[in-house]
Amino acid sequence: MPVPFLDLKAQYRSIKSEIQPVVTKVLESCSFVLGEEVAAFEREFAAYQQADHGIAVNTGTSALHLALLSAGIGPGDEVITTPFTFVATVAAIVYTGARPVFVDIDPVTLTIDPSRIEAAITPNTKAIVPVHIHGQAADMDAIMEVARFYELTVIEDACQAHGAEYKGRRVGSIGSLGCFSFYPGKNLGAYGEGGMVITNDRKHAATIRMLRDWGAENKYLHTLRGYNYRMEGLQGAILRVKLRHLENWTNARRTIARRYDELLEGSGVAIPRQMPFNRHVYHIYAVRVPQRDAFQKAMTAQGIQTGIHYPIPVHLQPAHADLGYKAGDFPHAEAAAAEVLSLPMFAELTPAQQDLVVSAVREVAEVQGLVKQGPGTGDQEPVKQVSGSGDQEPVKDFDFTVP
Ligand SMILES: *Cc1c(COP(=O)(O)O)cnc(C)c1O
Repeated sequence: MPVPFLDLKAQYRSIKSEIQPVVTKVLESCSFVLGEEVAAFEREFAAYQQADHGIAVNTGTSALHLALLSAGIGPGDEVITTPFTFVATVAAIVYTGARPVFVDIDPVTLTIDPSRIEAAITPNTKAIVPVHIHGQAADMDAIMEVARFYELTVIEDACQAHGAEYKGRRVGSIGSLGCFSFYPGKNLGAYGEGGMVITNDRKHAATIRMLRDWGAENKYLHTLRGYNYRMEGLQGAILRVKLRHLENWTNARRTIARRYDELLEGSGVAIPRQMPFNRHVYHIYAVRVPQRDAFQKAMTAQGIQTGIHYPIPVHLQPAHADLGYKAGDFPHAEAAAAEVLSLPMFAELTPAQQDLVVSAVREVAEVQGLVKQGPGTGDQEPVKQVSGSGDQEPVKDFDFTVP
């Protein structure tokens, strides 16, 4: 039986009866853009992320764009971020006219390495955009400390991290602004596109509310040069229903991740690490293997669909060649991009499906010579430590409480 990387149909089947009445309600109200459902979703999602304000927009990219504009970022400014992210993080910075400046990642968490930020700061630096990549929070305390010292705005790209926590706090409102995507494949996904900015700052909230709707202070008075970045009513209504399931889905993802961790022990592939102070929400469960492309091909041949998030770091993307970076500039990001392989991960993944994934991984790892027999004992041990997985203490699961 083939195992899909993601099964959105399984999730839809499980909530179909709750979705249909709210869709009908929106259609009958003809509240197609913004409206009551979107306003209620803004309140509910902001509260879920422990923030005072939520401003719904049409995509995560728009959320980032408006957060940067609200922070006053524009031409001549520099914004520090990670090259190991989806291209949208960087595109949003470029939209404002500012220059993205990359800093390499921590090889274990794959998030921006705070100890390298200071060296990238210039008099033009205005903001830092950490990305909670794969669903694990960046090291926010260290980032906030540098940001405070140099008076920089921190905008969290939490597009992969709904419900993720750093030291007991939900991500997105640790910095001044936090951005989320509700693209269908995200942990909380719309039936179309969607995004949100959250903040505890009333002024940012008011500015972003105007910017998403043509900069209008009230009808036909355009105070700011705005955009059409509004969320659709249907998406708001659907996301409200799905938000009620998010904790269960997240806990299911975390249980699946723990089971992968256990079952892949000794397989020769490096498993992702959860920092002890983080609640990782496993948008992506990425293992690392040295010959990744061949590994993926062999998995596909066994009927296991996998993904790569992401194969080319943004500093090496042709679209951003004008920034002047070259191969070798960010070795940890480049190594991660060459080695990560995302295994099937979604709340409805069954133990039987997971067993198929694990036996395929073990078989491919053995064929690739990643495992060898330990002397005399028959125990398996990794032949080669994949870069970045080294000398970390095993990380215990972290207890969290739901707000
Ligand atoms: C998905 C994603 C985005 C962009 O969100 P869209 O809703 O697709 O525009 C930005 N940053 C990261 C890290 C993402 O994963």
